[in-house]
Amino acid sequence: MTNELKICGWQSGRTIVKTRGFLVVLSGPSGAGKNTLLAKVLPKVPGLTYSVSATTRPPRPGEKHGVDYYFLEPREFQEWIDRGEFLEWAEFAGHRYGTPRRFVMEAIAQGRVVITDVDIQGARQIKQVLSDGVFVFLMPPSVDELHNRLKGRGTDSSEAIARRLEIARSELDAVVDYDYWILNDDLEQASETLAAIIRAEQSRVRRATFMCRKEP
Ligand code: ADP
Ligand code: 5GP
Repeated sequence: MTNELKICGWQSGRTIVKTRGFLVVLSGPSGAGKNTLLAKVLPKVPGLTYSVSATTRPPRPGEKHGVDYYFLEPREFQEWIDRGEFLEWAEFAGHRYGTPRRFVMEAIAQGRVVITDVDIQGARQIKQVLSDGVFVFLMPPSVDELHNRLKGRGTDSSEAIARRLEIARSELDAVVDYDYWILNDDLEQASETLAAIIRAEQSRVRRATFMCRKEP
């Protein structure tokens, strides 16, 4: 065991546990409910930190730069790639999306749990560099329901919706490469499941260092 165990055992003292930070990757077809789910889960798990991605997609009404995404011009996005600022990046439905490397790595080094929403290409890249990550796939109840949700969201043209549905059909098969699946039928239940997954991963022995603080 790599962990240096210093549990108090029979000695007097208090056991202190420090846990290493890690990245939770949430994927799933566009419209499955990733952002809605994240908004529910972030307040439920103290300290859970959202990684804001960069994109060349134009903002939807109400989306804010630096909050929902860093909205970049294609030239700026290319500069970020050239400077090695992305942990991963991919092209999705005609736009580029990427995860800023420094923010994620610094937050993990500080012991935080970071969550990011990336497509399946991005998740594959992250798995190569952060094997300690936790990979979660959000499934819609059906393709018809996915269509309804994309239409109901009211943010995408009918062409964009058709393109996203087409991509969704092939994305669903990728679930087998993930650690966990969540069916987003009932939102409250889905958010409880995601919070439970994160809490359980925080309790993994391999992420912990145990120390014994002697009591005076
Ligand atoms: P994604 O981030 O995966 O693209 P969104 O979070 O934008 O998806 O959700 C797409 C639409 O589906 C939104 O209008 C949202 O309100 C709705 N939605 C999300 N989860 C559910 C759910 N469990 N039941 C019904 N509608 C949902
Ligand atoms: P949307 O345009 O609906 O916000 O996102 C479209 C797709 O891009 C979603 O599948 C979402 O998970 C993905 N995405 C968002 N941020 C990133 C990112 O940083 N990297 C990658 N690879 N995909 C992302």
